Amino acid sequence: GQGRPWELTPVTTTCPYCGVGCQIDLLVKDNRVVGAKAAGHGVNGRHLCVKGRYGHQFIHHPQRLTVPLVKKNGRWQEVSWPEAIRKVAEGFRQIKQQYGGRSIAVLASARITNEENYLLNKLARLVLGTNHIDHCARLCHAPTVAGLAAATGSGAMTNPIKDIAGADLILAIGTNTTETHPVLSLFIRQAIQRGAVLVVVDPRKTELAKLAAIHLPVKPGTDIVLFNSMINVIIEENLWNKPFVEERCEGLPELTAAVRDYTPAYAQEVTGIAAETVRQVARAYATAGRAAILYTMGLTQHVTGTDNVLAVTNLALLCGQIGRASTGINPLRGQNNVQGACDMGALPQYLPGYQPVWEESCREKFSKAWGGPLPAQPGMTVGEMLQAACRGELKAMYIVGENPVISEADANHATQALSQLDFLVVQDIFLTETAQMADVVLPAASWAEKDGTFTNTERRVQRVRQAIPPVGNSQADWQIFCALAEALGRPMRYRHPREIFDEMAALTPAYAGISYDRLVKEGIQWPCPTPDHPGTGILHQEKFVRGKGKFHAVAYRPPDELPDRQYPLLLNTGRRLFHYHTGSMTLRTGLKDVYPVEYLDVNSQDAGEMGLAQGDRVKVISRRGEIVMPVRLTDEVPRGMVFASFHFPDAAVNKLTNGARCPGSHTPELKVCAVRLEKLEQ
Ligand code: SF4
Repeated sequence: GQGRPWELTPVTTTCPYCGVGCQIDLLVKDNRVVGAKAAGHGVNGRHLCVKGRYGHQFIHHPQRLTVPLVKKNGRWQEVSWPEAIRKVAEGFRQIKQQYGGRSIAVLASARITNEENYLLNKLARLVLGTNHIDHCARLCHAPTVAGLAAATGSGAMTNPIKDIAGADLILAIGTNTTETHPVLSLFIRQAIQRGAVLVVVDPRKTELAKLAAIHLPVKPGTDIVLFNSMINVIIEENLWNKPFVEERCEGLPELTAAVRDYTPAYAQEVTGIAAETVRQVARAYATAGRAAILYTMGLTQHVTGTDNVLAVTNLALLCGQIGRASTGINPLRGQNNVQGACDMGALPQYLPGYQPVWEESCREKFSKAWGGPLPAQPGMTVGEMLQAACRGELKAMYIVGENPVISEADANHATQALSQLDFLVVQDIFLTETAQMADVVLPAASWAEKDGTFTNTERRVQRVRQAIPPVGNSQADWQIFCALAEALGRPMRYRHPREIFDEMAALTPAYAGISYDRLVKEGIQWPCPTPDHPGTGILHQEKFVRGKGKFHAVAYRPPDELPDRQYPLLLNTGRRLFHYHTGSMTLRTGLKDVYPVEYLDVNSQDAGEMGLAQGDRVKVISRRGEIVMPVRLTDEVPRGMVFASFHFPDAAVNKLTNGARCPGSHTPELKVCAVRLEKLEQ
C-alpha cells in the first residue's frame, strides 16, 4: 500500500518522461517511492499526465539491474564494481591503442542529467579521444538543431510553454500533442477556449485534429509543398510583414523565386489539401495577431526533415510571427532531457553550448579547462556509427541509457551493426534488448536515486532531486563516468553533481548565470548569461541570435520509399499516451495493464476490403523485416495508411522502418515506409 499521507516524505523533482518537464513530488516511505503527485508549481501546476502520475513503479521493479554483469561464453556473470570498471577500461584502452580513439563511439542519453551528459562528453573527447558522440536527438529534432539554427541562430523552442495559451492561432504540425506532451496540450485547449483558431497538419485524425477548427490531412512527406504554397499565397496577396522582413531578415528574393511554382493548385495535387483551404490557412496565419507554430516528429522524421523545418521557419519569418509573446516556432522536444543533452554537447560536432569542435578557439577553451588535447575532426552521427561498425571501422561502443536495437530505423540493420563490434558496453537501469548484446553491462541508478538537472523543451533548467538511495548496487551515471576516467588514467573527481554543473556553466555561456542555489522552484530558461539575469522566456526579441533571420529556398522531394504494388500500404509510426519510447520503463509499470499490447491501426474501409476484423493478427512486412501484431480498425488513419507505435519490443515496428536519412541532419525517415499485410490464422 501507499502508506498513510503523514508517513510519506515528498521529494520534489522533475518528471522523467517527456520534455514538458512537469514538477512532481515523489512520495517516499522507507526508502521506497510509493507514489507521485503534482508538485503544485512549475509549468504543470496541479496537473500531471498518466505517465507522470502512475509511471514510477519501474524504480523498484524486480528486473532492475543491481550488479555489474560481464558476458563469459555467452552467459552473464555478476562481478564487483572494481572488476567491471577494470574490464571496461581495459577493453577501451586496448582498442584505442590498437586502432585509435576514432574506433570508439559513445551514445549519450536524453534520459540522464545535464551533469552526466557533460561528463560523458568530457570522457569521450578527452579520455577516449573520440568525437563520435551522439544520442537519440538524431532520431527526433536533429533537423531542428540544423534547420532552425541556420535560419535564426538557435535550434530551440522560441517561446515559453505558457505562451501557447495566449495565441490567436496555433499551427500544430505533425504533433500528436495530447498523447506525447499531454500537459502541454492543456495550454492549447486554453487557447481554444479563449477563441484561438487551431489548425492541425497531420495525416492522422488524432485527438488534437479533432479539436482543430481546420484539419489538414496532408499526404505524408508533402509538408514543403504546403508551406511553400502558403508562402506563395502570402506573397501574392501582399500579406507578409514588410517592416519586419525589411528590418530583420535576409534572402527574400531567393524565397520569392523558390515558391513561385508552388501554387495552391499544385499544393492540392501533391498534398491532397484543397487549394482554397491552403489559401484560407495562409491568410489566417499571416493576419493573426499572435500565431504560434508547434511541431514535432511529423515534420522532422523525413528525408527532407531539415528542409521541412526551414520551410516552416520561412513562413514565420515572412509574417513576423516570432520574437513576440505567444508567437514563435516551437519544436516540442520529446524526452525529458533531450534539450539538455544537446546543450551539453552530446552531438558529434559540438562541445557544450553548441561551441563547434572544429573551431580552434572553442577547442582550446575546453582543452585548457579539461587539461588535455581534444580531437578536432567532427565525429560520426548514430547512423554513420552503425555503418562504420558494419564496415569493421568502428570497434567499440559505450551506450548509455539508449536502446537502439528497438529505437533505430531499420532495427535489424542496427542489431547487425552492433553484433560486429569487438567490444560493447551498455549502461542502463534494465537489461534492455541492446544491453543483452553487450560484453559488459553497468547498472545505473534511476533518476529518482540521484541529484542533477534536466532542461525541458522550453529551455528551462530544472532540478532533479534524489528521493531514495540507489537500488541494489547500482550507481549514478556520473559516478560511473568518474570511476572509468580514473581507471583510464585521467581522474575526474567531484563530490556532488553541483560541482559538475558549476564547471559546465563556466564553459557554457547560455548556462553561465545558472547555479543550484538559483534553481529552487521554477527553474531558469537559458540563455542566462549572468548570476543576476532572470533567464530568457522569448528568443529573438530585438534581433535574431544569428543577427538577421535568414530565408532558405527549399524544394519538395518525395519520401524515399512510397507504397507500390508489392508493398501497397504506407506505414506511419509514432507514440501512444500510456507508453514511452522503447517501453523499458512504462512496460514495467501499471500502465502496461492499461495498454498491454500494441495494435496496428488500419483504416476501417481498407480492413473491410482486406477481410480483416478487429483483433485479427497480421504479419506486417516491409523490405527490411517483419513483425506480427493484432489490428485495430479505426478512421484515425486515412485509407492506404497503417500506424503503430514503437513502444513494444515484441512488436518492434522499427524492424520495418526505412533507414534512409535526411542529408542535412542524418535523421531517418521514420514516418514513411511501404509495407504489406498477411492475415495469420488465429
Ligand atoms: Fe511527465 Fe510529460 Fe506527462 Fe508532464 S506531460 S507528467 S512531463 S510525461
